Amino acid sequence: MRLLVWCLLLYIGYRLLKSALSAEKSTGAARRAVDEETVRDPICGVYLSRDDAVVGTLEGTRHYFCSLDCLEKFREQLDHTSQS
Ligand SMILES: [Zn+2]
Repeated sequence: MRLLVWCLLLYIGYRLLKSALSAEKSTGAARRAVDEETVRDPICGVYLSRDDAVVGTLEGTRHYFCSLDCLEKFREQLDHTSQS
């Protein structure tokens, strides 16, 4: 009779351990971070990574460009729209 109780306890312990291990596996694989963010040049429409982009802060908001030429064009457009 006592042996039966021990077997039952062992079985429950084994089940708990197994479920705990499988739960840990599923949560660990789900997390994968996106380390590189893509931005779009508003002038020529080119997509590029934020590390390569030319950053221009215009009227309090950040804009990303492929080159300084596009940044200048954007600044000119902004001047035209604000003047008219
Ligand atoms: Zn561009």
